[in-house]
Amino acid sequence: MINRGFSSSLKHFHMGETIFSEGEPGDWAYIIESGRVEVAISVDGQQYPLGILSKGDVLGEMAVMDTAPRSASARAIEETVCVAIPSGQISERVEEADPVIKLLVSTLLHRIRNNILQADSSHQLQIPQKLCQSLSKRALDKMRLESELRAALNNQQLRPHYQPLVNIQTREILGFEALIRWFSPTRGEVSPGEFTSIAEETSLIIPIGQQTIQQVCRDLVQFQQCCPDRPLSISINVAPRQLAADTFLTDLKSVIERYGLQASQIKLEVTERVFMEDPVALAMLQYCRKDGFQVFLDDFGTGFSSLNYLTRFEVDGFKIDRAFVRELLTNRRTQILLKSMLAMAHGLDMQTVVEGIETETQLMVLQKSGCNIGQGYLFGKPLSFEDAQKVLIQDHLIYSPMKL
Ligand code: C2E
Ligand code: CA
Ligand code: CA
Repeated sequence: MINRGFSSSLKHFHMGETIFSEGEPGDWAYIIESGRVEVAISVDGQQYPLGILSKGDVLGEMAVMDTAPRSASARAIEETVCVAIPSGQISERVEEADPVIKLLVSTLLHRIRNNILQADSSHQLQIPQKLCQSLSKRALDKMRLESELRAALNNQQLRPHYQPLVNIQTREILGFEALIRWFSPTRGEVSPGEFTSIAEETSLIIPIGQQTIQQVCRDLVQFQQCCPDRPLSISINVAPRQLAADTFLTDLKSVIERYGLQASQIKLEVTERVFMEDPVALAMLQYCRKDGFQVFLDDFGTGFSSLNYLTRFEVDGFKIDRAFVRELLTNRRTQILLKSMLAMAHGLDMQTVVEGIETETQLMVLQKSGCNIGQGYLFGKPLSFEDAQKVLIQDHLIYSPMKL
């Protein structure tokens, strides 16, 4: 089996090569990308083929799901390329599934295994094939993406880009928001919208987040060297699942200590989801604030309309979603809502960041409306580390988009 360089999740099997054998533990499941695979069982030392699988089919998933030994063997009958899904990736999802679904899956697997044991040579792989078909294309794409993403994490293909946050009155750069990018040799540049939700569904977001925090703090030290006369801050997006990890705060503190940064230079961006989903994550945010990290509510105004949580939980600021800026000049109701949100933030002594500012006219209206901080393509798109550094070096106080 050859592990083709760029992605450890793609596995290549030569014609005749065994992919797995009966009785082995199920370490991997596979999605066939190209080629064909014969699945067979042995009865009294005699091999009986159960069926042929080809592009898009899944194999080896049963032993991975119920951690029983393989009940069949698989062999490539032509040059075959598969995406290999590590067992942990699947068992984690099974473990976290609703208990009823878990019970149904284990019953179904038990039944399929019994069927295979009773199979004779004419018995085709009926139930497993049905099972494969019922795993929709979407689920397969998701597993494929998740697998590649795990490999990307190990191959340093994930890197933060930096979008300037500016003082809305003076245009002075106050810091950056770190926005993760995936540079995949096969998929090209993948936007976080496509992969962060998958990472957040699994614990993959935890190592991704740890790597991002490390990188961002390392980069912030260098940004700070470009303008030593004033502190810059970095905003980092964190998902509830990251915050639910016991070590989130201790890890964060040890990273900033290592790089000689202040907690106040780190702004944690969370969405309103954190108030609905996980009390552990919410408690963690509180500890972070006690230790001097700032907490901002992201995409404010788009999610759950209940503001009840703000009576119990303090945050340092809101980020008003770009949907409001988009309609700022055309919709009077949007203008009133935006104004009310700014007044509420002011009353609660919170900072406000307005996202998605794209035009000078929008900026002019916002300058008059009393918000503090702006972010958007008008000031700059998310930039690579080198470009963000250049922006700071060239014009470290007043940043004009004309100079980009
Ligand atoms: P977000 O936190 O709301 O980030 C703002 C998004 O709006 C970014 O998209 C940014 O490029 C885009 N944007 C900024 N200014 C403008 C503008 O003027 N016009 C328009 N049309 N768009 C603008 P991006 O980089 O694709 O990120 C999408 C989302 O992915 C983020 O939304 C955030 O929820 C998530 N994300 C990004 N990096 C991370 C990360 O490191 N960890 C986690 N958990 N999530 C991340
Ligand atoms: Ca954000
Ligand atoms: Ca946002």
